[in-house]
Amino acid sequence: MRAAKRSAFETADSVREAAAEPRHACDVLVIGGGPAGSSIATFLSRMGWKITLLEKEHHPRFHIGESLLPLNMPIFERLGVRQKIAGIGMLKPGAEFNCEGYQPVTYYFRNAMDKSFPIAYQVRRSEFDHVLLQNAAANGVDVREGVKVARVEFGADHPARIYALEECGSERVWEARFVVDASGRDTFLANRLQMKRRNPAHHSSAVFGHFEGAERRAGTDAGNISIYWFEHGWYWMIPLSDGTMSVGAVCWPYYLKGRSKGVTEFFLDTLALNPLVSGRLKNARLIAPATATGNFSYQAERMGGERYLLIGDAFAFIDPVFSSGVFLAMNSAELGAGVVDEALRNGGKLSPASLARYERTLRRGLKTFSWFIYRITTPALRAMFMSPRNMFRMEEAILSLLSADIFRQTPIRFPLCLFKTIYYVSSLINWRQSLASYRQRRRAWQSRLEYTWKRDAQADT
Ligand SMILES: Cc1cc2nc3c(=O)[nH]c(=O)nc-3n(C[C@H](O)[C@H](O)[C@H](O)COP(=O)(O)OP(=O)(O)OC[C@H]3O[C@@H](n4cnc5c(N)ncnc54)[C@H](O)[C@@H]3O)c2cc1C
Repeated sequence: MRAAKRSAFETADSVREAAAEPRHACDVLVIGGGPAGSSIATFLSRMGWKITLLEKEHHPRFHIGESLLPLNMPIFERLGVRQKIAGIGMLKPGAEFNCEGYQPVTYYFRNAMDKSFPIAYQVRRSEFDHVLLQNAAANGVDVREGVKVARVEFGADHPARIYALEECGSERVWEARFVVDASGRDTFLANRLQMKRRNPAHHSSAVFGHFEGAERRAGTDAGNISIYWFEHGWYWMIPLSDGTMSVGAVCWPYYLKGRSKGVTEFFLDTLALNPLVSGRLKNARLIAPATATGNFSYQAERMGGERYLLIGDAFAFIDPVFSSGVFLAMNSAELGAGVVDEALRNGGKLSPASLARYERTLRRGLKTFSWFIYRITTPALRAMFMSPRNMFRMEEAILSLLSADIFRQTPIRFPLCLFKTIYYVSSLINWRQSLASYRQRRRAWQSRLEYTWKRDAQADT
């Protein structure tokens, strides 16, 4: 069955317009039914537009990215799924950071500058993404699963034409006044339009798996995410409501390049490097082979054009250390719905001014996270994270960042500026350590081009 599915999709690029009649029409065609695609489809459908969403897989399907942030909650509320997410989620009151030589530190969201968002959830993405997709369908979206978009044509004198392939091999064409690309890391339009750019400042790869029997924290801390640093990167431990634990290591490419074993064995060896992590896993069992993803930071040159918009990972992906991906995807979807609605009311074309406003807002959010992400493995930032101080509300501002409260009017700018200044001063004072860390990162950047996980991941399965 799987093989048949794959072979049908392999011919996708050869889809021909003539073979694909008859056409279906809609106002907006959304490519991809992850959190970004389902959310924008729901918001636009509620605004009265005719929306079709094409998803190449069938939900529920596996996806990594299980830790959510408090500012997801108001979006769930507006989508009408908050109760359902609470039903499948594990309550997450905070994030715990661990580093050799320091006492563990837990940042509780309730202590952020704005105290109205005290919790988030950890979710199994297969369930979470399914809830959002079903919600889109319940809100009037024409959801088609098992349909892979193969080609999109934009013409000045006609609506966009979207050529897609069903699993049975039949070809279909949609005509849409507007196209939203929410295809995630497949980056459908950014690839086709050749505007995907690797992030030159940050390269890392991840290897991850799920365990049963891993040690959990006591009481209400049981749902906290745990982050651990080690010399080749950092680990996550995310407790899920069914008792399993999602565990992953995000590593510099040079470290992965040096390995000689299969992915699963390498993963277990990597976890054994940290006594705190291996201690929590001593009675645990990996329930399926480990998975790996390659270098994964990128951004598209632009977020849209006259008749299309890129949202979520289809536009940009940053390192997941702050669990920001799902929030950024859903936030870009909600803001994007307003932008697309405006375009549809103005003849179906996105105005440059409206696109520029949207892009400015979202890039600012990415930049706020990225400053911390690029430096998270430096000794100076690690030390500051492990010894939080609320001088001039700096700790509260960091908590607001960890909660994803970065697009509202919460006054985090000044305390974050102060935090950064202290970081630079402390890096200068400890210049030897900073230089060694910089050299290590530079080695990582240089080695990334030589490394590819794909071949290895295939070899392991
Ligand atoms: C190792 C790792 C750990 C992560 N951890 C976290 C975390 O803890 N918390 C967090 O918030 N984020 C995390 N993320 C990021 C998070 O997974 C993503 O940011 C999030 O899923 C983005 O949502 P999206 O809707 O943009 O894309 P996706 O969720 O990837 O959805 C895209 C959908 O489009 C479909 N699709 C693709 N191409 C086509 C096509 N041609 N036709 C039809 N359908 C198509 C795909 O099947 C998919 O269902 C992590 C990511 C990685 C790699």
